[in-house]
Amino acid sequence: MSTSHIQTIGIVGAGTMGNGIAQACATKGLKVVMVDISDAAVAKGMATVSASLDRLIKKDKITTEDKATALGLITGSTRYEDLTSAQLVIEAATENEALKVKILQQLDGLLAPEVILATNTSSISITKLAAVTQRADRFIGMHFFNPVPMMALVEIIRGLQTSDATHDAVKAMAEHLGKSPITVKNAPGFVVNRILVPMINEAFFVLAEGLASAEDIDAGMKLGCNHPIGPLALADMIGLDVCLAVMNVYVEEYNDSKYRPCPLLKEMVAAGYLGRKTGRGVYRY
Ligand code: NAD
Repeated sequence: MSTSHIQTIGIVGAGTMGNGIAQACATKGLKVVMVDISDAAVAKGMATVSASLDRLIKKDKITTEDKATALGLITGSTRYEDLTSAQLVIEAATENEALKVKILQQLDGLLAPEVILATNTSSISITKLAAVTQRADRFIGMHFFNPVPMMALVEIIRGLQTSDATHDAVKAMAEHLGKSPITVKNAPGFVVNRILVPMINEAFFVLAEGLASAEDIDAGMKLGCNHPIGPLALADMIGLDVCLAVMNVYVEEYNDSKYRPCPLLKEMVAAGYLGRKTGRGVYRY
């Protein structure tokens, strides 16, 4: 399916992911309407895009004219009504189920019936979110990776009700953005986090059992598997609390003991050693 009928993308949330998605769309010539709850949040999102484009200019990836064109395509707003010009709206607000349900129902009532609604959620069921709208067949997960302008992957997650036409249109749009999408059925963690986070958890078991030092565990996975970063250093980047929360979701959803969080991971979270953001995790910063 072509994406020619999608000229304008609506984005809800101007945070880390929302402004990254806005940049990815605008640099491909699409119009963007980016909505957040306050003028300050919208301004911060716009400033982040501007700074990110400046870095691309410094690297000779784009020109100052390209930057001006891209910024000119993005309209910031605090009014949901401004999203009605979009043919595809991507929800990228704070990860909170009750909040997302409220936002999606509001959008569902506002947008024309043919508009596709996507969510960038990392952990909430696409099938469940689709069911709170009247357009479950035109609802889908579009899981971008951080930082959006750099990362090639988009997981396209089909809820149980998502139509083929919706899937094909969103996949084509991801490709138009220069991304390499993969199609995934809805399930906790989708594909990447389902594999990645248990691997990180296993690295904590290996560390706790004293099989090797943190440095050697990370070196082993970098040199032996060609990973750009070791699992423990990656846990420090993601946040140990986030890794633990994800494992707890798997335990709850799959009821399978293979997902039990490593006691050392729990201890470190309890101690407040959450990784880079607290200055100490597996490593000290
Ligand atoms: P963030 O905190 O950086 O940004 C969230 C933004 O949503 C904030 O600017 C906030 O003001 C805004 N917001 C809150 N309520 C709103 C409302 N009612 N209407 C409009 N805007 C509202 O969060 P983020 O990291 O950008 O995450 C956004 C989504 O993307 C989450 O669902 C998250 O799970 C998902 N995600 C995050 C990452 C990541 O690495 N950060 C990766 C993939 C997916």
